[in-house]
Amino acid sequence: MAHPDPRSAAIRDVRRLRWERNTRPMLSSPRCGALTRQGGRCRAPAARGKKRCRMHGGAFGSGAPKGNQNALRHGTDSKAARQEFARIAKIRQALRDEASASRRRRSS
Ligand SMILES: [Zn+2]
Repeated sequence: MAHPDPRSAAIRDVRRLRWERNTRPMLSSPRCGALTRQGGRCRAPAARGKKRCRMHGGAFGSGAPKGNQNALRHGTDSKAARQEFARIAKIRQALRDEASASRRRRSS
């Protein structure tokens, strides 16, 4: 018995564990996901702080500068608008909570 059987379950398990240990950090990092010309999704790692890889618009220094108004249409997706919507949602939730609390007070 010079070599253990390479097909044995134990060796397969060890190899599987080693493969997972070596690849999990890589595979769990955010991926690009851009549509490729082959119809699939790009699996390259997304650039730091970006949603796309360096080939798909995530390159450092690329993209519009912060606060750029060039593509502004109605501004409902702007940072200020999103903050305003969040503020309104908070107030609406507080009103709903208050209404249900007062209903409970009246019914008891
Ligand atoms: Zn990509």
